[in-house]
Order: sequence, then structure tokens, then C-alpha cells
Amino acid sequence: MGYTALYRKFRPLNFSEMVGQEHITKTLKNQIIANRVGHAYLFNGGRGTGKTSAAKILARAINCLNPKDGEPCNECEICKGAISGALTDIVEMDAASNNSVEDIRSIREEVNFLPTKAKYRVYIIDEVHMLSTGAFNALLKTLEEPPEHVKFILATTEPQKLPATILSRCQRFDFKKISTEDIIKRLEIVCKESNIDITKSALNIIAVLSEGAMRDALSILERCIQDGENKIDDDKIKDLVGIPKTVYVNRNY
Ligand SMILES: [Zn+2]
Repeated sequence: MGYTALYRKFRPLNFSEMVGQEHITKTLKNQIIANRVGHAYLFNGGRGTGKTSAAKILARAINCLNPKDGEPCNECEICKGAISGALTDIVEMDAASNNSVEDIRSIREEVNFLPTKAKYRVYIIDEVHMLSTGAFNALLKTLEEPPEHVKFILATTEPQKLPATILSRCQRFDFKKISTEDIIKRLEIVCKESNIDITKSALNIIAVLSEGAMRDALSILERCIQDGENKIDDDKIKDLVGIPKTVYVNRNY
């Protein structure tokens, strides 16, 4: 069996599993229930705060054959296809590596066609601030008159780099840094399900070091078990991360 990184394995599959972004997930769920989903969203926030997870959940929820209270069922044909990556109607694109006018033009041509299986074709564009000026202009044309069957979810860590014309076309959601308490709660679940034996203060250290990014917290946790021993205490993290004890004291661990 292949190895799956913890942050992939424990990626939330529905809104209720997401941590620390209730202000966003509640609104999105209400929109889905009321059938008032917008055609373009901008998810803004620091790395590891759940933007991509939320985008994937939203893309499934609006296409799910049996949605429940605004959540995707994750069991129907559409949800399964989306989770496995087989469903071509949900398109994920990283603007850091696909930022040219041609990349966006191909989307513009594609949007004229109906989705193959799902109700909506959803474009999730990560790091959207990396698009070139020409690409933004091409995207704007599509955002101005999107076909009924197309939705856009743009994600960024640097919204100030986006043209005002793009911003004004999107419903914007600002993802918060995840609190230390929320990160600890999630880490506790991950450790329990992965049979990792960890001390309370070690959990706290990881949570503080991750600075509000769940993905970073899971990456640190992962590094701590790479020796094949599922046991973690303060000293182990200290050795791994290379932080002297005094720093912990000064930072009030
Ligand atoms: Zn479903």
C-alpha cells in the first residue's frame, strides 16, 4: 500500500470537518441549501488555512447527487469521481505554473461546452495572483459573462495583487489563521487515528510552531514519526526543529 502524507490523508471531506473557518463554511452551506451559489468566489488567506479544501468541498457539494444540509455525500458517482480525480468537470489549476494567456484562453473555449457528467464545470484556480496581466484580462471576459453551468473558485494568499476588476466580480471569503486550540484539537484526532503517542505539551509546541497553518502542523507531526516510532515528546520535536529550549521559555510554551 502506498504511503499517503498526513495532510492528504486527513484533508477534510466536508465542511463540518474543516477547522476554524466556521464563518465561511456556514455561509457556503446556506447558499448551497438555498440554491443561491454565486458564479465566482475568491478564497483569500494564508497557506494551510483550508482554502483548497473548502474549494474542493464546494465543488462537490454543488454537483453532488445527494447533498445533505449543504454538504456533499462523498458517496455518489459524482463525489467519488471528484475525490479520485477521475471527474473532468472539476478542474484544478495552479496559476503558479499555468499563468499564460493561452492557459486561460483554453478555459474560455472550454466553458462554452456543457459539463460531461456533473451539473457544473468548476474551475479551481490556486495562487490566482500569479496570472499574467494578459491572462487576467482573458479571465475577466469569462467572469463577466459566465455560462450558467460554470463556476469559478479562485484562491490566493495575496489578494492585493489582483486587479480590482477581478475582485469586484467575486464573492470574497477571508480565511483566518487557525487558532492554536483548534490545531491541537485536530492534531489530537489525527494522532488518535494514526496511533501516535504524543504528550500534551508536544501537541502545544507543534501547534504554536505551525503559526495557524494546519498543513504545517501536520507536516511537523509527520517529520516527528519518520523514524518509524509513533512516540512524540518535547525533546523529539526540539531536536527535529532545532529550536533551543530557551526559545520555548521566551515564547511562553
Ligand atoms: Zn455526492
